[in-house]
Amino acid sequence: MAQGIRKVGIIGAGQMGNGIAHVCALAEFSVLLNDIAPDRIKDALATINGNMARQVAKKIITEDQRKAALARIESAEKIGDLADCDLVIESAVEKEDIKRKIFSALCPVLKPDAIIATNTSSISITRLAAATDRPERFIGIHFMNPVPLMELVELIRGIVTGDPTFEASKEFVARLGKTIAVSEDFPAFIVNRILLPMINEAIYTLYEGVGTVESIDIAMRLGAHHPMGPLELADFIGLDTCLSVMQVLYEGLADSKYRPCPLLVKYVEAGWLGRKTKRGFYDYRGEKPVPTR
Ligand code: NAD
Repeated sequence: MAQGIRKVGIIGAGQMGNGIAHVCALAEFSVLLNDIAPDRIKDALATINGNMARQVAKKIITEDQRKAALARIESAEKIGDLADCDLVIESAVEKEDIKRKIFSALCPVLKPDAIIATNTSSISITRLAAATDRPERFIGIHFMNPVPLMELVELIRGIVTGDPTFEASKEFVARLGKTIAVSEDFPAFIVNRILLPMINEAIYTLYEGVGTVESIDIAMRLGAHHPMGPLELADFIGLDTCLSVMQVLYEGLADSKYRPCPLLVKYVEAGWLGRKTKRGFYDYRGEKPVPTR
Protein backbone atom coordinates (compact mmCIF):
# COMPACT_ATOMS: atom_id res chain seq x y z
CA MET A 1 0.00 0.00 0.00
CA ALA A 2 1.23 3.49 -0.87
CA GLN A 3 2.54 4.43 2.63
CA GLY A 4 -0.66 3.44 4.34
CA ILE A 5 -2.98 4.94 1.73
CA ARG A 6 -6.02 2.69 1.63
CA LYS A 7 -9.00 4.98 1.58
CA VAL A 8 -9.15 7.79 -0.97
CA GLY A 9 -11.69 10.61 -0.83
CA ILE A 10 -12.50 12.57 -3.96
CA ILE A 11 -14.19 15.97 -3.79
CA GLY A 12 -15.94 16.94 -7.02
CA ALA A 13 -17.66 14.19 -9.01
CA GLY A 14 -17.41 15.94 -12.38
CA GLN A 15 -15.64 14.63 -15.44
CA MET A 16 -12.25 14.46 -13.67
CA GLY A 17 -13.57 13.25 -10.30
CA ASN A 18 -15.36 10.30 -11.86
CA GLY A 19 -12.23 9.32 -13.79
CA ILE A 20 -10.06 9.54 -10.67
CA ALA A 21 -12.57 7.40 -8.75
CA HIS A 22 -12.55 4.90 -11.62
CA VAL A 23 -8.76 4.39 -11.66
CA CYS A 24 -8.45 4.37 -7.85
CA ALA A 25 -11.14 1.70 -7.50
CA LEU A 26 -9.53 -0.48 -10.17
CA ALA A 27 -6.22 -0.14 -8.30
CA GLU A 28 -7.99 -1.57 -5.22
CA PHE A 29 -8.26 1.59 -3.15
CA SER A 30 -11.50 2.21 -1.25
CA VAL A 31 -13.07 5.32 -2.72
CA LEU A 32 -15.46 7.89 -1.26
CA LEU A 33 -16.90 10.26 -3.84
CA ASN A 34 -18.19 13.65 -2.68
CA ASP A 35 -19.88 16.51 -4.52
CA ILE A 36 -21.85 19.55 -3.46
CA ALA A 37 -24.61 18.31 -5.80
CA PRO A 38 -25.74 14.76 -4.88
CA ASP A 39 -27.03 14.27 -8.45
CA ARG A 40 -23.48 14.66 -9.74
CA ILE A 41 -22.39 11.72 -7.58
CA LYS A 42 -25.20 9.59 -9.00
CA ASP A 43 -24.30 10.62 -12.56
CA ALA A 44 -20.63 9.90 -11.87
CA LEU A 45 -21.39 6.39 -10.61
CA ALA A 46 -23.43 5.71 -13.76
CA THR A 47 -20.60 7.06 -15.95
CA ILE A 48 -18.00 4.91 -14.16
CA ASN A 49 -20.24 1.87 -14.57
CA GLY A 50 -20.59 2.55 -18.31
CA ASN A 51 -16.89 3.26 -18.81
CA MET A 52 -15.88 0.09 -16.97
CA ALA A 53 -18.38 -1.94 -19.05
CA ARG A 54 -16.64 -0.57 -22.14
CA GLN A 55 -13.28 -1.69 -20.71
CA VAL A 56 -14.72 -5.18 -20.13
CA ALA A 57 -15.99 -5.29 -23.74
CA LYS A 58 -12.49 -4.33 -24.94
CA LYS A 59 -10.97 -6.98 -22.64
CA ILE A 60 -8.94 -4.37 -20.74
CA ILE A 61 -10.46 -5.56 -17.45
CA THR A 62 -12.56 -8.59 -16.49
CA GLU A 63 -16.19 -8.55 -15.38
CA ASP A 64 -15.04 -9.62 -11.89
CA GLN A 65 -12.64 -6.65 -11.72
CA ARG A 66 -15.44 -4.31 -12.79
CA LYS A 67 -17.81 -5.63 -10.09
CA ALA A 68 -15.14 -5.51 -7.39
CA ALA A 69 -14.08 -1.97 -8.38
CA LEU A 70 -17.66 -0.65 -8.42
CA ALA A 71 -18.22 -2.16 -4.97
CA ARG A 72 -15.21 -0.17 -3.69
CA ILE A 73 -16.79 3.22 -4.55
CA GLU A 74 -19.16 4.77 -2.04
CA SER A 75 -20.97 8.05 -2.32
CA ALA A 76 -20.13 10.59 0.39
CA GLU A 77 -22.78 13.31 0.42
CA LYS A 78 -21.29 15.16 3.39
CA ILE A 79 -17.71 16.33 3.68
CA GLY A 80 -17.67 14.72 7.18
CA ASP A 81 -18.00 11.32 5.46
CA LEU A 82 -14.37 11.73 4.36
CA ALA A 83 -13.12 11.75 7.99
CA ASP A 84 -11.11 8.54 7.88
CA CYS A 85 -9.59 8.91 4.41
CA ASP A 86 -5.80 8.57 4.12
CA LEU A 87 -5.72 10.77 1.04
CA VAL A 88 -8.30 13.29 -0.21
CA ILE A 89 -8.05 14.54 -3.79
CA GLU A 90 -9.87 17.82 -4.40
CA SER A 91 -11.20 17.97 -7.97
CA ALA A 92 -13.97 20.58 -7.77
CA VAL A 93 -14.34 23.50 -10.18
CA GLU A 94 -11.25 25.53 -11.09
CA LYS A 95 -12.06 28.47 -8.78
CA GLU A 96 -9.64 29.35 -6.03
CA ASP A 97 -12.27 30.66 -3.60
CA ILE A 98 -14.29 27.44 -3.91
CA LYS A 99 -11.21 25.29 -3.36
CA ARG A 100 -10.28 27.36 -0.29
CA LYS A 101 -13.79 26.93 1.16
CA ILE A 102 -13.57 23.17 0.57
CA PHE A 103 -10.25 22.97 2.43
CA SER A 104 -11.53 24.95 5.38
CA ALA A 105 -14.50 22.56 5.70
CA LEU A 106 -12.34 19.47 5.13
CA CYS A 107 -9.37 20.09 7.45
CA PRO A 108 -11.23 19.98 10.79
CA VAL A 109 -12.90 16.63 9.96
CA LEU A 110 -9.89 14.89 8.42
CA LYS A 111 -7.38 12.90 10.50
CA PRO A 112 -4.21 14.93 11.07
CA ASP A 113 -1.83 12.65 9.16
CA ALA A 114 -3.99 12.39 6.04
CA ILE A 115 -2.64 13.87 2.81
CA ILE A 116 -4.63 16.45 0.86
CA ALA A 117 -4.03 16.69 -2.88
CA THR A 118 -5.52 18.99 -5.47
CA ASN A 119 -6.17 18.20 -9.12
CA THR A 120 -6.05 21.90 -10.04
CA SER A 121 -4.98 22.58 -13.63
CA SER A 122 -3.23 25.83 -12.86
CA ILE A 123 -3.59 27.34 -9.39
CA SER A 124 -0.52 27.71 -7.14
CA ILE A 125 -0.05 24.63 -4.95
CA THR A 126 1.86 26.70 -2.39
CA ARG A 127 -1.04 29.17 -2.10
CA LEU A 128 -3.68 26.43 -1.83
CA ALA A 129 -1.51 24.59 0.73
CA ALA A 130 -1.47 27.74 2.85
CA ALA A 131 -5.27 27.57 3.01
CA THR A 132 -5.01 24.21 4.87
CA ASP A 133 -3.81 23.21 8.34
CA ARG A 134 -1.16 20.88 6.83
CA PRO A 135 0.88 22.52 4.05
CA GLU A 136 3.63 19.90 4.47
CA ARG A 137 1.05 17.19 3.70
CA PHE A 138 -0.42 19.01 0.70
CA ILE A 139 0.52 18.32 -2.93
CA GLY A 140 -0.66 18.74 -6.54
CA ILE A 141 -1.63 15.44 -8.19
CA HIS A 142 -2.71 16.57 -11.63
CA PHE A 143 -4.52 13.96 -13.71
CA MET A 144 -5.13 14.21 -17.45
CA ASN A 145 -8.52 13.91 -19.15
CA PRO A 146 -9.87 11.22 -19.72
CA VAL A 147 -8.26 9.79 -16.60
CA PRO A 148 -8.71 6.06 -17.37
CA LEU A 149 -6.98 6.47 -20.75
CA MET A 150 -4.23 9.01 -20.18
CA GLU A 151 -0.89 7.66 -18.97
CA LEU A 152 0.48 10.82 -17.36
CA VAL A 153 0.06 12.42 -13.95
CA GLU A 154 1.92 15.61 -13.01
CA LEU A 155 3.17 15.84 -9.44
CA ILE A 156 3.67 19.35 -8.11
CA ARG A 157 5.23 20.12 -4.77
CA GLY A 158 4.38 23.34 -3.01
CA ILE A 159 7.27 25.10 -1.32
CA VAL A 160 6.31 23.48 2.00
CA THR A 161 5.38 19.97 0.75
CA GLY A 162 7.35 17.40 2.77
CA ASP A 163 9.40 14.53 1.35
CA PRO A 164 7.15 11.82 2.93
CA THR A 165 4.11 13.36 1.17
CA PHE A 166 5.98 13.50 -2.15
CA GLU A 167 7.16 9.88 -1.80
CA ALA A 168 3.70 8.62 -0.76
CA SER A 169 2.15 10.44 -3.73
CA LYS A 170 4.71 8.94 -6.13
CA GLU A 171 3.90 5.48 -4.83
CA PHE A 172 0.16 6.15 -5.04
CA VAL A 173 0.39 7.28 -8.67
CA ALA A 174 2.56 4.27 -9.54
CA ARG A 175 -0.13 2.00 -8.04
CA LEU A 176 -2.59 3.56 -10.49
CA GLY A 177 -0.27 2.46 -13.32
CA LYS A 178 0.44 6.04 -14.40
CA THR A 179 3.73 7.71 -15.28
CA ILE A 180 4.82 10.80 -13.38
CA ALA A 181 6.19 14.09 -14.67
CA VAL A 182 7.40 16.30 -11.82
CA SER A 183 6.69 19.99 -12.31
CA GLU A 184 7.74 23.00 -10.30
CA ASP A 185 4.93 25.09 -8.86
CA PHE A 186 4.49 27.69 -11.61
CA PRO A 187 1.16 28.71 -13.17
CA ALA A 188 -0.44 25.82 -15.11
CA PHE A 189 2.61 23.55 -14.53
CA ILE A 190 4.00 21.81 -17.67
CA VAL A 191 1.23 20.31 -19.81
CA ASN A 192 -1.23 23.19 -19.57
CA ARG A 193 1.48 25.87 -19.78
CA ILE A 194 2.18 24.56 -23.27
CA LEU A 195 -1.26 23.23 -24.30
CA LEU A 196 -3.60 26.05 -23.25
CA PRO A 197 -1.78 28.89 -25.03
CA MET A 198 -2.00 26.73 -28.17
CA ILE A 199 -5.76 26.33 -27.68
CA ASN A 200 -6.12 30.07 -26.93
CA GLU A 201 -4.19 30.83 -30.14
CA ALA A 202 -6.54 28.54 -32.09
CA ILE A 203 -9.48 30.56 -30.69
CA TYR A 204 -7.75 33.81 -31.78
CA THR A 205 -7.30 32.23 -35.22
CA LEU A 206 -11.07 31.70 -35.32
CA TYR A 207 -11.79 35.16 -33.82
CA GLU A 208 -9.66 36.92 -36.43
CA GLY A 209 -11.31 34.94 -39.23
CA VAL A 210 -8.14 33.20 -40.34
CA GLY A 211 -10.04 29.91 -40.45
CA THR A 212 -13.38 28.33 -39.62
CA VAL A 213 -13.89 25.92 -36.71
CA GLU A 214 -13.62 23.02 -39.14
CA SER A 215 -10.58 24.28 -41.02
CA ILE A 216 -8.66 25.03 -37.79
CA ASP A 217 -9.36 21.59 -36.36
CA ILE A 218 -8.61 19.70 -39.56
CA ALA A 219 -5.43 21.74 -40.03
CA MET A 220 -4.05 20.63 -36.67
CA ARG A 221 -5.32 17.04 -36.95
CA LEU A 222 -3.86 16.38 -40.37
CA GLY A 223 -1.14 19.01 -40.47
CA ALA A 224 0.36 18.45 -37.03
CA HIS A 225 -0.97 14.94 -36.34
CA HIS A 226 -2.81 16.00 -33.21
CA PRO A 227 -5.41 13.34 -32.33
CA MET A 228 -8.01 16.10 -31.77
CA GLY A 229 -8.22 19.60 -33.23
CA PRO A 230 -7.63 22.41 -30.69
CA LEU A 231 -11.27 23.60 -30.70
CA GLU A 232 -12.61 20.06 -30.26
CA LEU A 233 -10.09 19.68 -27.46
CA ALA A 234 -11.21 22.96 -25.85
CA ASP A 235 -14.82 21.69 -25.85
CA PHE A 236 -13.62 18.41 -24.36
CA ILE A 237 -11.66 20.10 -21.55
CA GLY A 238 -14.48 22.58 -20.82
CA LEU A 239 -14.32 26.21 -21.95
CA ASP A 240 -14.70 27.47 -18.35
CA THR A 241 -11.64 25.44 -17.35
CA CYS A 242 -9.71 26.71 -20.41
CA LEU A 243 -10.56 30.31 -19.51
CA SER A 244 -9.61 29.83 -15.86
CA VAL A 245 -6.23 28.39 -16.84
CA MET A 246 -5.55 31.29 -19.24
CA GLN A 247 -6.49 33.79 -16.53
CA VAL A 248 -4.11 32.12 -14.09
CA LEU A 249 -1.31 32.22 -16.71
CA TYR A 250 -2.06 35.85 -17.60
CA GLU A 251 -2.18 37.04 -14.00
CA GLY A 252 0.48 34.69 -12.64
CA LEU A 253 3.12 35.40 -15.29
CA ALA A 254 2.04 39.00 -16.00
CA ASP A 255 2.73 38.58 -19.71
CA SER A 256 0.25 39.82 -22.35
CA LYS A 257 0.98 36.80 -24.55
CA TYR A 258 -1.36 34.82 -22.23
CA ARG A 259 -4.33 37.21 -22.70
CA PRO A 260 -7.49 35.05 -22.93
CA CYS A 261 -9.15 35.43 -26.34
CA PRO A 262 -12.32 37.61 -26.04
CA LEU A 263 -14.22 34.95 -28.02
CA LEU A 264 -13.40 32.36 -25.33
CA VAL A 265 -14.71 34.79 -22.71
CA LYS A 266 -17.91 35.26 -24.73
CA TYR A 267 -18.59 31.52 -25.02
CA VAL A 268 -18.14 31.10 -21.27
CA GLU A 269 -20.42 34.10 -20.58
CA ALA A 270 -23.05 32.47 -22.78
CA GLY A 271 -22.82 29.28 -20.73
CA TRP A 272 -21.56 27.39 -23.79
CA LEU A 273 -18.90 25.42 -21.96
CA GLY A 274 -18.29 22.64 -24.50
CA ARG A 275 -19.32 19.01 -24.34
CA LYS A 276 -20.51 19.16 -20.75
CA THR A 277 -23.23 21.70 -21.62
CA LYS A 278 -23.73 20.25 -25.13
CA ARG A 279 -22.59 23.46 -26.83
CA GLY A 280 -19.25 25.11 -27.33
CA PHE A 281 -17.29 25.48 -30.56
CA TYR A 282 -19.49 22.59 -31.68
CA ASP A 283 -23.15 21.82 -30.98
CA TYR A 284 -23.42 18.28 -29.58
CA ARG A 285 -27.19 18.05 -29.36
CA GLY A 286 -27.67 16.19 -32.61
CA GLU A 287 -26.18 12.96 -33.89
CA LYS A 288 -22.99 14.60 -35.16
CA PRO A 289 -21.18 17.64 -33.70
CA VAL A 290 -21.94 20.75 -35.80
CA PRO A 291 -19.65 23.84 -35.67
CA THR A 292 -21.33 26.81 -33.97
CA ARG A 293 -19.44 29.39 -36.07
P1 NAD B 1 -16.57 19.66 -13.78
O1 NAD B 1 -17.25 20.95 -13.98
O2 NAD B 1 -16.87 18.49 -14.66
O3 NAD B 1 -16.81 19.14 -12.27
C1 NAD B 1 -16.64 19.92 -11.14
C2 NAD B 1 -17.51 19.35 -10.02
O4 NAD B 1 -17.22 20.06 -8.80
C3 NAD B 1 -19.02 19.51 -10.27
O5 NAD B 1 -19.64 18.23 -10.20
C4 NAD B 1 -19.48 20.43 -9.14
O6 NAD B 1 -20.78 20.13 -8.66
C5 NAD B 1 -18.41 20.13 -8.08
N1 NAD B 1 -18.31 21.15 -7.04
C6 NAD B 1 -18.40 22.50 -7.15
N2 NAD B 1 -18.27 23.07 -5.94
C7 NAD B 1 -18.07 22.06 -5.04
C8 NAD B 1 -17.89 22.02 -3.65
N3 NAD B 1 -17.87 23.13 -2.91
N4 NAD B 1 -17.75 20.82 -3.05
C9 NAD B 1 -17.79 19.67 -3.78
N5 NAD B 1 -17.96 19.65 -5.12
C10 NAD B 1 -18.10 20.84 -5.73
O7 NAD B 1 -14.99 20.00 -13.78
P2 NAD B 1 -13.75 19.02 -14.09
O8 NAD B 1 -13.39 19.13 -15.52
O9 NAD B 1 -14.00 17.68 -13.47
O10 NAD B 1 -12.59 19.80 -13.30
C11 NAD B 1 -12.36 19.59 -11.91
C12 NAD B 1 -10.94 20.01 -11.56
O11 NAD B 1 -10.01 19.23 -12.33
C13 NAD B 1 -10.61 21.48 -11.85
O12 NAD B 1 -9.74 21.97 -10.86
C14 NAD B 1 -9.91 21.39 -13.19
O13 NAD B 1 -9.03 22.46 -13.42
C15 NAD B 1 -9.14 20.10 -13.03
N6 NAD B 1 -8.73 19.42 -14.27
C16 NAD B 1 -9.56 19.44 -15.37
C17 NAD B 1 -9.16 18.80 -16.54
C18 NAD B 1 -10.06 18.77 -17.75
O14 NAD B 1 -9.59 18.43 -18.84
N7 NAD B 1 -11.32 19.10 -17.63
C19 NAD B 1 -7.94 18.13 -16.58
C20 NAD B 1 -7.12 18.11 -15.43
C21 NAD B 1 -7.54 18.77 -14.28
